[in-house]
Amino acid sequence: MNELSEIAGAGRTDALTQAEWTGRYTGALMNTFGAPQRVLTRGEGCYVWDADGQRYLDLLAGIAVNSLGHAHPTLTGAISAQLGTLGHISNFFASPLQITLAERLAALVVTGPRPTAARTFFTNSGTEALEGAFKLARRHGGADRPRILALEGAFHGRTMGALALTAKQAYREPFEPLPGGVEHLPFGDLAALEAAFATGGEQVAAVVLEPLQGEAGVRPLPTGYLAAARELTDAHGALLILDEVQTGMGRTGAWMGHHHDHIGAGVVPDVVTLAKGLGGGFPIGAVVAVTERAASLFGPGQHGTTFGGNPVAAAAALATIHVIERDGLLKRVGSTGNAIRSAIERLAHPLIAGVRGEGLLLAVQLTDEIAPAAARAALEAGFIINPVAPDALRLAPPLILTTEQATSFTDALPHILEKAMQS
Ligand SMILES: *Cc1c(COP(=O)(O)O)cnc(C)c1O
Repeated sequence: MNELSEIAGAGRTDALTQAEWTGRYTGALMNTFGAPQRVLTRGEGCYVWDADGQRYLDLLAGIAVNSLGHAHPTLTGAISAQLGTLGHISNFFASPLQITLAERLAALVVTGPRPTAARTFFTNSGTEALEGAFKLARRHGGADRPRILALEGAFHGRTMGALALTAKQAYREPFEPLPGGVEHLPFGDLAALEAAFATGGEQVAAVVLEPLQGEAGVRPLPTGYLAAARELTDAHGALLILDEVQTGMGRTGAWMGHHHDHIGAGVVPDVVTLAKGLGGGFPIGAVVAVTERAASLFGPGQHGTTFGGNPVAAAAALATIHVIERDGLLKRVGSTGNAIRSAIERLAHPLIAGVRGEGLLLAVQLTDEIAPAAARAALEAGFIINPVAPDALRLAPPLILTTEQATSFTDALPHILEKAMQS
């Protein structure tokens, strides 16, 4: 028995089964996520294996996180090397990696030349990035501008500030009162946004938008909405904050979701939040203040973090960016995404109404509310997919997914849907 399996708790009883691990899970973890679908023990490339030795094609990638798949040699190499050199230092000190990463991100969040005013704050997660953005909005607004506009369907995280920005009642209600001032406007409704600015527009501190809403079922903002939001925020002195936690870092086939022509190319946001794919699976998030007015809102001591931007996390993000560039993954994400889309459309299956999304953030719209049953049937067939809505399946695979791997899923999809109908 090696030391690693001893540390992992598998040593004592050696190979525990799924069922045994699941029993231990319920006896040890809080019941926030429901019963785990499987207990996973190993991953390589686009595949993971469970405790019973079953293999799955991972088409969810830890919810749009594992951009380079599992156990990518460049990523594990960078993380191990950094951990063996300098692992954690606190933000009383800086590391070259953290500085380099902040410079890289400033260049990636916009399409033009690197905005020299841009300044970054590193976090450990998406919700913390939104907390940082929320605090920037408060700093910008002060007492005179208490309003923050977000959209119905929005998901921005689970901590109190991020939760105030999140629309879903079931997530919010048990924790009220939440930080005040947030209004949720109908999704993609430009007239509603104009109306929100028409009265009390000078009291709006910020508009917070996902270029494509991920958790709401992969819904892109309608063409023109983002540009109009930029005009309105500019005209009324409010910040435009883009939550690219799910859509950023190449997920959609561009560095940022808003870089696509039909979503918001040319729009320069004040703030961009990142996490999920940023570290390729290693926890790291970022708040990138792009414009001068947003970049200088925090003074010394006004925000902080112990772990945020530590050298190992920064190394993971730099390695992820390096591989995306080296292997031309942005382009490949676009073509693999298109291949999946047309393969599914070619099925012309009566239970499939269509495919939406961008790059490798896709949702298969079903004609019946069988998504949870379909996800279970998919798992049985060796595919991890996500029932993002009762009638929609989300695909967010590693960016390295091959067309052959994608085809193995689209070929199996009719059978998966028929199984779901029978259950
Ligand atoms: C996942 C997500 C978050 C929250 O990120 P966590 O790392 O889970 O805290 C915030 N915003 C968006 C758009 C997300 O998809």
